[in-house]
Amino acid sequence: MDQGTKICPNCGTKMTINAEVCPKCGAMQAQPMGSYATGPASVQEQVQSRKRVGMFLLWGWLSAVASLFIPIIGIASIVLGVLTIRNKHVSAGVVLIVVAAIFIFLGMTGFAEGFFGAL
Ligand SMILES: [Zn+2]
Repeated sequence: MDQGTKICPNCGTKMTINAEVCPKCGAMQAQPMGSYATGPASVQEQVQSRKRVGMFLLWGWLSAVASLFIPIIGIASIVLGVLTIRNKHVSAGVVLIVVAAIFIFLGMTGFAEGFFGAL
C-alpha cells in the first residue's frame, strides 16, 4: 500500500493521506493522526474486505450460472457464498448459496439438455 495515499471508504477513490474530504464524492475522511487503531487502518480494512466480497460475489454468481450446465461448478459458488458470509455480508452470501443450490438442482435435473434442446 502506498504510504502517501488513502482510499475513500465511501467511493474508493485514492487521495493524499492528508485530504479531509474526498475529491470525488465529498465524504469526510478519517484523520491520519489520532486514534490510529480504529482510524485509517480499519477503514482500509473495510475497503479491502468490500473489494474481497465483490470478487467472491462476482465469481460466485458466475459459477452459479455455470452450474446450470455443469452442476459440480456450483460447489465453488457455495464456498464463495460461505466466504462472503464470513466477511460479514450475510444476506448476500445466503442469497448466493440458495440460488447456487437451486441452479445445481436444475443443472442435475437436465436444465442444460432442455436449454440446448430448445435451441
Ligand atoms: Zn469518495
